[in-house]
Amino acid sequence: MPDLPSTDRITTDDISAFFDSPIQVHVLRLDKIHSQISGNKWFKLKYYLQAAINSGKGIATFGGAWSNHLLATAAACRLHGLRSIGMVRGEEAVDRSQTLVQCEELGMQLIYLSREDYRQKNLLLNNLDDYLLIPEGGYGELGAKGAATILDHTAQSYTHYCCAVGTGTMMAGLINAAPSATVIGISALKNNSDLEPAIRSLANSQDRWMLIHDYHFGGYAKHPQPLIDFINEFYQHTQIPADIVYTGKLFYAARDLVQKQFFPPGSRILLIHSGGLQGNASVPKGTLMF
Ligand SMILES: *Cc1c(COP(=O)(O)O)cnc(C)c1O
Repeated sequence: MPDLPSTDRITTDDISAFFDSPIQVHVLRLDKIHSQISGNKWFKLKYYLQAAINSGKGIATFGGAWSNHLLATAAACRLHGLRSIGMVRGEEAVDRSQTLVQCEELGMQLIYLSREDYRQKNLLLNNLDDYLLIPEGGYGELGAKGAATILDHTAQSYTHYCCAVGTGTMMAGLINAAPSATVIGISALKNNSDLEPAIRSLANSQDRWMLIHDYHFGGYAKHPQPLIDFINEFYQHTQIPADIVYTGKLFYAARDLVQKQFFPPGSRILLIHSGGLQGNASVPKGTLMF
């Protein structure tokens, strides 16, 4: 049985000293909630879980080999006694990822979409009525509604909320929860032109937010040396571990934007540490210093 997730462990860390600037910068540590149901995934899943429990269904969803969303779904379903199916994009690696091994240990049934296993796929499709289908990454209104409750865990209000962005679900939730602030999203993907409309359709405001596409470091799964070096430097100064796919890029972008005086004087900025640390197991041991 996995440990119980707890939002009591969330802290707000003041890392203003890391930025050579009078601007106030805090980090909301959603990474502390749970090692498997980490960060924003705990929030994005909560109303989907409730819907599945209420309807007596299992949960079926999608993700890649290192997906934080798949693992969070597997662990959350295990905790609530729900059946779960994970449909895995991409080739089945000869060595399964640590993430997928954990998903299976948690009882998730994995189906590799790339593999021509018609018998298994047909079995799945015939039984899907018993499952609530969650879009990849928890995208959708229920996901955004859950993400909006992230800001229930902040003690003060801020002028800017900054987060890493995959599907945009968390960002939409933050926009909806912070009616008088600006929300800035750092896209982890390269040239993702689907993102803007995806957020627009979930957000209740069309003008208090901004997507920045300049910090993808080559793309979703890319982690060139400058990003690794930055994550290590950031950890050395703040004792905050970041992940290579999302939050490393967010913290890098935050420092760059502060240095470029993007934020007006007097800004109070909250960076959302959305978790995802389990995915760091995809890089060789010793690459990161934590
Ligand atoms: C999934 C994930 C995101 C992206 O969240 P979206 O709501 O899909 O934009 C950001 N950070 C981490 C650590 C994640 O695991």
